[in-house]
Amino acid sequence: MKKIAIFPGSFDPFTKGHEDIVLRGLGLFDEVIVAIGYNSQKHKRYFDIDVMVAYINQTFVGYDNIKVAVYNELTAELAKKYDAKFLLRGLRNTTDFEYENSIAQVNNYLNDDLESVFLITSPRFAAISSSIIREVHRYGGDTREFLPYEL
Ligand code: ADP
Repeated sequence: MKKIAIFPGSFDPFTKGHEDIVLRGLGLFDEVIVAIGYNSQKHKRYFDIDVMVAYINQTFVGYDNIKVAVYNELTAELAKKYDAKFLLRGLRNTTDFEYENSIAQVNNYLNDDLESVFLITSPRFAAISSSIIREVHRYGGDTREFLPYEL
């Protein structure tokens, strides 16, 4: 059976750190679905969701085993729809770990078919976070070093 992993996140924006996790994920899974969680009530995005879908598609042009989805439901439910048995996430530091640990427990409770798999960040991408990139962009700084596409 095809091993499908969901890589869920806000991706506001999608960074080289995210790209690295997806490409390394292909070493483990047959297909990786980059799933952009969208909750209009929670917080307003900085980068438009449709624009980010286009950038992610552009990043992985030529890969037919990487897909992009937008969702507004529990990740555990989305995984069932795609028949995905794995949730792929990245870990940069202990703060990520604390957060990921609790989400993984809840996701496992919601869908016990789902295994969370964590990849440790590659050192060269460890400092990249979407929130820092939003700050740099907001004040007109150069973000090219951090993104796998040209804004
Ligand atoms: P969320 O809003 O769910 O935290 P993000 O879009 O910030 O989602 O990130 C999605 C996933 O990518 C998370 O597992 C996060 O830890 C991971 N991630 C973010 N930046 C990096 C990076 N530079 N290296 C490795 N993993 C990363």
